Amino acid sequence: MEIELAREMGFCFGVRRAINIAEDAVEKRDQLASLGAIVHNRQVVSSLSSQGMRIVQNLNDVREGAVLVPSHGVGKETITEINSRNLDLVDATCPIVRKAQKAAQKLHKEGFTVIVFGEFDHTEVEGLLSWAGENALATLNAANLKTPPSQLGILSQTTQREDQFADFISQLLKSDIASMSEIRVYNTICDATAKRQAAALELAAKVDLMVVIGGYESANTKRLAEICSSVGVETWHIERAEELDLPKLYGKNHVGITAGASTPDWVIHEVVDKIKSFDP
Ligand code: SF4
Repeated sequence: MEIELAREMGFCFGVRRAINIAEDAVEKRDQLASLGAIVHNRQVVSSLSSQGMRIVQNLNDVREGAVLVPSHGVGKETITEINSRNLDLVDATCPIVRKAQKAAQKLHKEGFTVIVFGEFDHTEVEGLLSWAGENALATLNAANLKTPPSQLGILSQTTQREDQFADFISQLLKSDIASMSEIRVYNTICDATAKRQAAALELAAKVDLMVVIGGYESANTKRLAEICSSVGVETWHIERAEELDLPKLYGKNHVGITAGASTPDWVIHEVVDKIKSFDP
């Protein structure tokens, strides 16, 4: 059986940077609390927890010390709240997410109603909406915009698919262009995401099974699995090697592997080794 790895996969620079910031902070500070998971991968979170970093869901759970903002960022109000409570801010927001937040803030300041192409309940999108002002909304369906505003600003969750973002924009423009005086679009999709998606698509087209490794909460990993299945290839989304059902590999001649941007290399190696150990 041939095992082929996608040419781009695994840790992106934003995740590596966030983990480095967290490791440095946990070593230097007596108390460090992360506002939610630093990245959407349980193995990474549990490794940092074992070094002393607490995970909290709410600022009310932090009385003193430092608060770490995860790679997917937080809303404007949260930053204000951290500062007003005199807590130390350790900001691990990915620079690409920060760029999207700045774009949202700029559009809002200039009078645009901001539409975020993304999942409204994803933590990154919740943060983006906070920077985008009170009229902003997040959706994956252009039909949800019932009354297009006169000035429309569009941006995307960083981990969305470029082809679907393009479709979304085109649907919005078809809806009621006459009522819009100005439309501004920022392509805030992350390059690392786009490259991983293109590499997964290329590999999925030539194998008879794709194994996608990464957290079940990870938006970019879910997207990779969705892209692979969209070309009709059997796709398994797993988080760890022990989830592999080896007998199901019977009859597979060419297995492709890809991994989300928050999946550590050692998790990928475990999966590859386990597949290699299959002896039909
Ligand atoms: S996937 Fe992109 S936006 Fe998300 S953390 Fe990585 S580099 Fe940053």
